[in-house]
Amino acid sequence: MNLLGVIRKNWGQLLTICGIFALMIVLSCLWAVSNARQYMTLNAEEMLQVAEERLQGRIRESEVTLFNTANSLIQQQLHRGFNAEETREYLREIHRELSHSEYNLGYFNIFWYMPRPEGMVFISGSDWEPPPEYEPEKRPWYFAADAIPGHSAITAPYIEWKEGINAVTMALRLRGGGGEDFGILGIDLSVARLAQFALSFQFERGGYGYLIGPSLEPDKLCFIAYPDSRYAGLPMRGLGPQYAALEERLKQGTEALSSVTLKNANNVPVIAFYRRTINGWYMGLAFPRDGYFHDLYVNIFVFVLSGIVLMLVLCYFIVNLSMDKLQSDEENQAKSSFLAQVSHEIRTPLNSILGMSEIILRKDISPDLYENVSIIRQSGDILLSIINNILDFSRIEIHRIQIENHPYQLSSMINDVVNIIRLGLAGKPVDFFVDVAGDIPVELLGDEAKVRQLLINLLNNAVKYTRQGYIKLLVRKGAADSDELRLLFSVEDTGIGIRQEDLGRLFRDFTRLDRERNSHIEGAGLGLAIAASFCKALGGGISVESVYGEGSIFTAEVRQGVGKGGTTLQLRESGMRVVVYEDRSLYLEFLLRAFNALGIDPESSPDLSSFVSALEGGDFDYAFVASRYAADCVAAWEGAASPAKLFVMAETDFDAGFRSAGRVHLPLYSCSLANILNGVPGPENNSRRTDRFAFMAPDARVLVVDDLSTNLRVAEELMR
Ligand code: ADP
Repeated sequence: MNLLGVIRKNWGQLLTICGIFALMIVLSCLWAVSNARQYMTLNAEEMLQVAEERLQGRIRESEVTLFNTANSLIQQQLHRGFNAEETREYLREIHRELSHSEYNLGYFNIFWYMPRPEGMVFISGSDWEPPPEYEPEKRPWYFAADAIPGHSAITAPYIEWKEGINAVTMALRLRGGGGEDFGILGIDLSVARLAQFALSFQFERGGYGYLIGPSLEPDKLCFIAYPDSRYAGLPMRGLGPQYAALEERLKQGTEALSSVTLKNANNVPVIAFYRRTINGWYMGLAFPRDGYFHDLYVNIFVFVLSGIVLMLVLCYFIVNLSMDKLQSDEENQAKSSFLAQVSHEIRTPLNSILGMSEIILRKDISPDLYENVSIIRQSGDILLSIINNILDFSRIEIHRIQIENHPYQLSSMINDVVNIIRLGLAGKPVDFFVDVAGDIPVELLGDEAKVRQLLINLLNNAVKYTRQGYIKLLVRKGAADSDELRLLFSVEDTGIGIRQEDLGRLFRDFTRLDRERNSHIEGAGLGLAIAASFCKALGGGISVESVYGEGSIFTAEVRQGVGKGGTTLQLRESGMRVVVYEDRSLYLEFLLRAFNALGIDPESSPDLSSFVSALEGGDFDYAFVASRYAADCVAAWEGAASPAKLFVMAETDFDAGFRSAGRVHLPLYSCSLANILNGVPGPENNSRRTDRFAFMAPDARVLVVDDLSTNLRVAEELMR
């Protein structure tokens, strides 16, 4: 078998393995990516939290300074009146303090723009005197201070006049207790310094922080701080559609931590995280996407690679194993066909041996010779049954089992089986009882040969493994489902029984149990294996109960169809009156069962004399008597000219010699009894010992065709 063939045979399995691996890889990758993202988000959140707290702290500090200064200035103003020098000195002091504070976060000026009777005065802590063209009313801080009265406000970043740097101003409009206006107090902060800490975050592989806030142009956002000067301070929507979209999102007011993927100033894709801080700005951090995921990608690559290698190795092993198995299957098949061939070949000469011994047995020969040839015949029969089993078995092996579906008569099949088994029991002190339920349809649809073989195998075993006692065959109808019939066969014997621990392997091929004890019994250990596979093929099963040393019960179930009409056994006449005499209780029990199955309730005589008087009384249509008492009643029956038809129930080898009375073979059961009561010739007329009287056709012209001369000779002799 070539590789491609093996793969084609196993493609389902291989595909499943590949599918499972692919699924595993995809799920693992998804899991790893989601884990990495989660980790990254957590990290970003933590960093932004810290940064925000620091920023808040600094802004609050400036705010506190602003309010404190405002308070002092208003107090001074109210208590001591306005003194420009004193005020300037006070602001200078604060300026010095703030400039040298180690927490200085970009502070570079404090100023007061206040109304005086002589006009507005601008006093700055850094001693800056505004030039004449400086118009305070047009500065950003002037508008910001009035945006939220009574609160400090931060302007959007703008270019500060004096230093020319990017700055924001925290401004507060001062009001006295009576609502009088004390102008605006402002603190200038350098944006560059303010943003420095955000930019100073240490990230792996090129990460950076940024701040987004309102730009000076109304209603627009810009990067207040950004590591690349090409972007810092510019309105976001001027930076491309991705940034414009981000601006839109920010304007809708995103509170929680969010992220977007966009290209930065160097056209590198970055993952940008951002969150809103309390002064309404957005603080964020970004890092190059590929850099961050680099390790993850490497891990995933290694994982996928090892997954694929593992999958290929697994597939390789499966293909290899399957190749071995297919090869051994092929060899097994070859062996089985050889076995089938050989068995078939053996059967042909064996049939000649059997045929010839039969011919010799029919001749007038001396008792000695008769006995010797009988032994040849019996041994041949045993050999034939073994060979038949082997043939069946090898057929099962080669073709699987092919089920036929033809109409057949249950009764004739059972009759065949009973005749074969009865002959096998000849001379053995084993009674054979058969009980076929009366509610089973006469004609069945199915595989007669297999059902027959199944029964023969079970009954043959019962015969082989039972030395004394009885064998019972029960045929029952199981609960019907759909239009099929469940047939139950049970074969009970009082044989050697089977050990409990052996029951499990009973139905395996070539199993023979208890070898020492059974060494004298022929068999190949195939009978039950064949029976079991037939049962299975016929939609049923087989089971066994056994007590070691006491006996066994095999129960087989098969499904068969119901033939035309589906009628059960019918008698030609109804209301038959029957009397029986049998004093062995088991025999009587089965005899009554047979009658009951046909709807007849016979009278059972308690002793011979009452049976004889019943015969003479003339009240019965039929009378059945055990062969042991035949001699005693036939004469009385003949003398009384009784209208009853008398039948002697005979054991196999019983030759009654009463030509006037009828003779029926035991076991008697519903089918055979129906034949007798309906006047159909019984099986006893076909039995081997009486064949020669049954059929004569001296003028018949017969054509016999066979390619074996021995077969032709056997046929010729038998017909002669
Ligand atoms: P065999 O050809 O040896 O009879 P089977 O497959 O028919 O092969 O039976 C397998 C074994 O099961 C027999 O060898 C025998 O030991 C045991 N066995 C089968 N039927 C019976 C039975 N009715 N009573 C006791 N043992 C049985």
